[in-house]
Amino acid sequence: MTKKKTNPRRPLVAGNWKMHRTASDTRALIQDIVKRVERVAYADLVVCPPFTSLPAAHETLGRHSTLALGAQTMHQAKEGAFTGEISGPMLREFGVRYVILGHSERRQFDNETNEKVAAKAIAAIHYHLRPIVCVGETLSQREANETTAIVESQLRESLTGFPLDQHEELVIAYEPVWAIGTGKVATPAQANEVHERIRKILIQIFGDHGTAIRILYGGSVKPENAPDLMAQPEIDGALVGGASLDARAFFDIIEAVRPARASDHD
Ligand code: PEP
Repeated sequence: MTKKKTNPRRPLVAGNWKMHRTASDTRALIQDIVKRVERVAYADLVVCPPFTSLPAAHETLGRHSTLALGAQTMHQAKEGAFTGEISGPMLREFGVRYVILGHSERRQFDNETNEKVAAKAIAAIHYHLRPIVCVGETLSQREANETTAIVESQLRESLTGFPLDQHEELVIAYEPVWAIGTGKVATPAQANEVHERIRKILIQIFGDHGTAIRILYGGSVKPENAPDLMAQPEIDGALVGGASLDARAFFDIIEAVRPARASDHD
């Protein structure tokens, strides 16, 4: 059985719905999730529906505070001639509190470079949104033993200019690209090793405050593999794609971050 850890950082589980669920489907899924997570007090919970579903999600959540809303990206400017883009203030209007930045699909298909992620992260803070900054290597980079170098450069460049006193707002997600949506998952040890490296870099950037920044793991997290992954000392939660579209599976993953109780120890 997986031994649960005691971790000083509050766990966070975020669901990335990607380009799934219309506004009308969103209402039903949000209701189903809310019903299940109502009593969860041990973790921060976030769902990130597509932009067009945010108003429906916001309306359905009402004053419910257990589940926060996130967006899947944003533009760094407040407004302007940026066709197809969405700004921080637009997201805030629909109760959005978090924003995923530098997701590998955005890096791959929409040229979301480290430089852009850095500008967006600074803007997110400016508009009172918590950035979830994603980093992760491709399969060929892992096979070429470049994981550490890639993750390190993505992290440092994506955090260039980030206001150091806003460390509490920042969340990092380590998502090996080869594990996203593929059913291939990093082993708990593989994931924890990269998280440890990320932690060291965060401490270099933020000093002691770097120890308080949450690092999520993402990449084919499912109810079956979540307990072992979440038991790792440097894994503070999960960024969940496919499984977050199933309220039951999402809830089971959330259960895996429940901290150990005193009575669980010998
Ligand atoms: C993701 O989209 O961030 C993700 C990790 O997807 P999946 O869980 O489907 O691999």
